[in-house]
Amino acid sequence: METKAFQAESKKLLDMMIHSIYTHKEIFLRELISNASDAIDKLYFRSLTDDSVGMNKDDFSIRIDADKDARTITITDNGIGMTKEELEHNLGTIAASGSLGFKKENELGDDSQIIGQFGVGFYSAFMVAKRVTVYSKAFGAEQGYKWQSEGVEGYTIEETEMDSHGTKIVLELMDDSDEEGYSEFLEQYRIQGLVKRYSDYIRFPIQMEVTHRKLKDGTENEYEEEVTLDTLNSMVPLWRKNKTELTEDDYNNFYQEKFVDYMPPMAYKHVHNEGAVTYDALLYIPSKAPYDYYTREYEKGLQLYSNGVMIMEKCGDLLPDYYSFVRGLVDSEDLSLNISREMLQHDRQLKLIAKSIEKTVKSELARMMKSDRDKYEKFFDAFGTQLKYGVYSDYGMHKEELQDLLLFKSSRGDKPVTLQEYVDAMPEEQKEIYYASGQSPEAIAALPQAEAVLAKGYEILYFTAPVDEFAAKQMISYKEKVFKSVTENDLDLSTEEEKKALEEKQETNKSLLEDMQKALDGKVEKVMLSNRLKKHPACLTSQGDLTLEMEKVLNAMPTDKKVQAKLVLEINPEHPVFTRLSEMTDTERIGKYAKLLYNQALLLEGMPIENPAEFSELICELM
Ligand code: ADP
Repeated sequence: METKAFQAESKKLLDMMIHSIYTHKEIFLRELISNASDAIDKLYFRSLTDDSVGMNKDDFSIRIDADKDARTITITDNGIGMTKEELEHNLGTIAASGSLGFKKENELGDDSQIIGQFGVGFYSAFMVAKRVTVYSKAFGAEQGYKWQSEGVEGYTIEETEMDSHGTKIVLELMDDSDEEGYSEFLEQYRIQGLVKRYSDYIRFPIQMEVTHRKLKDGTENEYEEEVTLDTLNSMVPLWRKNKTELTEDDYNNFYQEKFVDYMPPMAYKHVHNEGAVTYDALLYIPSKAPYDYYTREYEKGLQLYSNGVMIMEKCGDLLPDYYSFVRGLVDSEDLSLNISREMLQHDRQLKLIAKSIEKTVKSELARMMKSDRDKYEKFFDAFGTQLKYGVYSDYGMHKEELQDLLLFKSSRGDKPVTLQEYVDAMPEEQKEIYYASGQSPEAIAALPQAEAVLAKGYEILYFTAPVDEFAAKQMISYKEKVFKSVTENDLDLSTEEEKKALEEKQETNKSLLEDMQKALDGKVEKVMLSNRLKKHPACLTSQGDLTLEMEKVLNAMPTDKKVQAKLVLEINPEHPVFTRLSEMTDTERIGKYAKLLYNQALLLEGMPIENPAEFSELICELM
């Protein structure tokens, strides 16, 4: 018998394993099963070209045995096996291939995450076992070997007799402590559950002797136990099946079971992709946004499989934030099961898959919009806000990608419109895309600033979500039509004659407007006459990029820095109030009128008035 020490790096990894947090420990079974499956794969492939192997696909299996008395779990495969050198090399020097290469020594902080998400192969056995014994005989070899280790100290290796090729791994479980009970891994239901959860799709049977309780023949309440050798995994994953074999129910049931949703999904897409990267995917759009969808707690991601073995519960890198509502899974042969070779985030294949999935989601949404508008509107109700955030985020980087997926309510009616539909319906002389922000379509429709635009027969997009206007500002324009808030000061709706007439009136009332402006010093940049108003005496508009609505949204955010829109008070020269004003000479009285009109306009905007007491006094005084 030879006793050897582990390499330094292996020691470190072992140590990480042994001290990993308890909830991650269950993955040891997945890791060992997947190694067994790989070993069978190797021999199976060989059998395809080498008759001397003498085995068919059906001859291969993985077997699990749990012995409660001995506290052992044994995983046996009849795969390719390992020679003495391979045992030493593969199990003794795990880090030789650079397992820890992805983490520098000083970064070994959050190792629990690595282990939980990726697993680290064979060594995970030490998360649950105090001693691991590996019996292995390589295919075609005469001699079998027994490798044994109790962890950090090293391992022993010696010859052993074995009947046939393959590998048998015996785990002697650690003792239960107050915090951690390892005995549970000996329970049949626990093993069945773990196989179902992590290894259901391994393509060779995973078998175990299972005890069933059944009614004794001829009795009504006497039971007997029967032990059968059961296959625990279903072996063929849904996503690998042919689309023509599957029904909508198959897809929906799978979704509801797997992703625990009481409602069937709104839409699904089954992808078999071959090309730069080969993968299968099942993508789903839930019917409803999860309760925590628009919170920080929500975590995006798709389940990630490498050749049928789940390697990550939620791989966030597979989805851009604006498609974070997509659920589902991806299975690829091009991904390595073991993170040891490359950090997954930086994996080129993974990036290609993510790109391809993004494309698929986009075209599916576009298709839904075209073929089933009602459904798309429901989708947009649930997740449209996320798309709008997507337009706004990253300095508008994704706006091209997303702009045609957006819907907005508008003055046209109850049905939301796309930007393309808006532009298509524009009268020839209309140059810009008009929008207005407010609490509700009703409140917006009643805005004095909207009057003139509507009177022209132009459609107004109703921005009722706080993000809408920010998204529009980020887009700047759509099909070369600039987005324009109806509350912007320089709306150009008048004819040349109207403009001229207004200028003259403005000139005549110059001193009046100046007096008003003085009374409102610091509150508005300017007081001016305007053609845009019909029934209202005055309204507030803004100059520059920041509108009053945006000011409201930004100032509601928890930051110290408050912003202020540059406001203009526009007066309707056709209104009786203005007629009265223009007859006044008393500067003080003009100032009071100005304040009243300003406050009134604020109220119409849904803004708080600055000094309610003063406002109330002014009204009484003038009444
Ligand atoms: P990985 O599987 O990612 O290479 P592991 O630490 O799980 O990392 O295993 C190291 C190596 O040991 C494997 O690559 C394989 O060559 C060998 N090995 C592990 N388990 C078995 C097994 N059951 N049969 C044959 N070889 C195995």
